[in-house]
Amino acid sequence: MRLEPKKVLVVEDEAKISEVIRSFLESKGFVVFVAENGRQAFGLIDKENISMIILDLMLPDMSGEDICIKIRKTSRIPVIMVTAKVDEVDMLKGLGIGADDYMTKPFSLKELYARIEVVLRRSSDDLLPLYNKNSFMNGDLEVDFQYHTIKKQGREVNLTTSEYKILASMIKYPNKVFAREELIRIALGDEFEGFDRAIDSHIKNIRQKIETDTKNPDYLITIHGTGYKFGGY
Ligand code: CA
Repeated sequence: MRLEPKKVLVVEDEAKISEVIRSFLESKGFVVFVAENGRQAFGLIDKENISMIILDLMLPDMSGEDICIKIRKTSRIPVIMVTAKVDEVDMLKGLGIGADDYMTKPFSLKELYARIEVVLRRSSDDLLPLYNKNSFMNGDLEVDFQYHTIKKQGREVNLTTSEYKILASMIKYPNKVFAREELIRIALGDEFEGFDRAIDSHIKNIRQKIETDTKNPDYLITIHGTGYKFGGY
């Protein structure tokens, strides 16, 4: 599975600092965007699939803490907040504004990188959808999210619209266990008022189409007492 480079947004009004961070992170394989203020930051967050944000506390138009609170209203993008004073860290933690980590200036690039790695690892265990992926491929199963086509060992598989919606949603949320009612909402919409177990027959049909052994599924894994998760990662 090929992973696309992660996009990091650096929100920092001091160009000297942001340029050092930019060139360092680019050397580590990240795609780096720099915003000098809150307005630019939100423009980039709306436009790009940002994977993580390094956020300075003191900015010309908004405070880093207000930016973080605003981000958290709509998104769980990991945020590392940077402050100039050690005692601010305790104050910020106490406010519970939703940052994932804090650093005090001056910091070493090595320290920054270590914290980014930790935060990204933690968030990949999380329920963030992989918006930036156009397809899933593992050598056996191939799902194209743009054209809604599915191939099993190179051969095209026909899924119904509901079956496709269920499978695609599960693939886009690695490690997420879907409750039956969630899958029903995804597949059939909110207006459906049938029995939760209706989803089981969809799962059974998808398994017949994509699993090598339906009794021992690789992809649509039953989580007893809860629902289902995608097991192809
Ligand atoms: Ca600043």
